[in-house]
Amino acid sequence: MPGRHFLFVPGPTNIPDRIIRAMSVASEDHRNPTFPDFLRPILEDVKKIFRTTQGQAFVLPTTGTGGWEIALTNTLSPGDKVLAARFGQFSHLWIDLARRLGLEVEVLEEEWGTGASPENILAKLEADKKHEIKGVLVVHNETATGVTSDVAAVRKVIDAAKHPALLFVDGVSSIGSLNFQFDAWGVDMAVAGSQKGFMLPAGLGLVCASQKALEARKSAKCARAFFDLDDHIKANATGYTPYTPSIPMLYGLREAMAMMFEEGLDNVAKRHHHLASGVRAAVAAWGLKLCAKESKWDSDTVSAIMVPEGINGADVIRTAYTTYNLALGAGLNQVAGKLFRIGHLGDLNELMLLGALGGVEMAMLDVGIKIELGSGVAAAQAYYRTANSK
Ligand SMILES: *Cc1c(COP(=O)(O)O)cnc(C)c1O
Repeated sequence: MPGRHFLFVPGPTNIPDRIIRAMSVASEDHRNPTFPDFLRPILEDVKKIFRTTQGQAFVLPTTGTGGWEIALTNTLSPGDKVLAARFGQFSHLWIDLARRLGLEVEVLEEEWGTGASPENILAKLEADKKHEIKGVLVVHNETATGVTSDVAAVRKVIDAAKHPALLFVDGVSSIGSLNFQFDAWGVDMAVAGSQKGFMLPAGLGLVCASQKALEARKSAKCARAFFDLDDHIKANATGYTPYTPSIPMLYGLREAMAMMFEEGLDNVAKRHHHLASGVRAAVAAWGLKLCAKESKWDSDTVSAIMVPEGINGADVIRTAYTTYNLALGAGLNQVAGKLFRIGHLGDLNELMLLGALGGVEMAMLDVGIKIELGSGVAAAQAYYRTANSK
């Protein structure tokens, strides 16, 4: 199909031309004497994106899933108990991975469309007098349902319970897009991936560890080899990596972070809020509902839109793709068929989103969802114009 493909899944996201050009480099020796001058500033900049001066950043050749494993295996031992809230496919998969690593996971089931409940976490931590719970796992932005949880509030209840558990945060679809504060929120292990807010291809896992997490590493007995942070700590200290890095990806990461700093991290978060608010105005104008049950859960990086009874969300996605060259995200697991998702993160502006909303309207009408053509687009346009004039 001629024209640009409209990529509106919540990862991988659009790669700006600037980043594609930055990645177009000849191979070089990763043991060359100037390599540390290249790698060291990148690792320092990753800390800035996570908003930490206290923590240590690591970049490994993996994806967000590998980041989950890095965070857990480097700090915990088989049989250790962790507390995890489950309210979507990604929180579910992290729990599954933790169990496969030999951890004992106590699951707090939350309704899909809601997020981590600080009250429920507090109750479990207060009841854990012997401090058997070694970690609390929170998915900051549940990409499957379009729900953002309050990580700062989770930190508050861990402190209120005077509980020593480590705080593990999946920030794969939030870090680099939404406000994320590693130090201020007292996060111990945070995980990001390259193909979402970082606007890169998949292939890098970005992990940040607090000093407390690095200390826990010394007694952590989970098996680890490729993902052993010890090797990275030693090699990174000299400005190198323990094995061959993907150098084009590092060039891309450097460029992506330069773009984020040029815009300003606060402005990046504001832009995501602005763009998402227009999408939410469109959804309201269509007379449809988000999967997020209350506005406090609304995600600024992905909107999961419930389709009416009798309609399959997968049909909207197929029609959008085959007829309009528009890629939308699917409903997963419990919400399969019940919704479709618009990813609105990364390299994106108002007009790109208006185009996507226009395609969504046509696809919805094609599969029998009774909406008025242009209603959502007009609502988003009106929102953007009003917000821009403020
Ligand atoms: C995409 C995503 C993951 C998985 O990342 P991969 O890079 O696909 O391994 C994990 N958590 C969240 C919240 C995600 O959005």
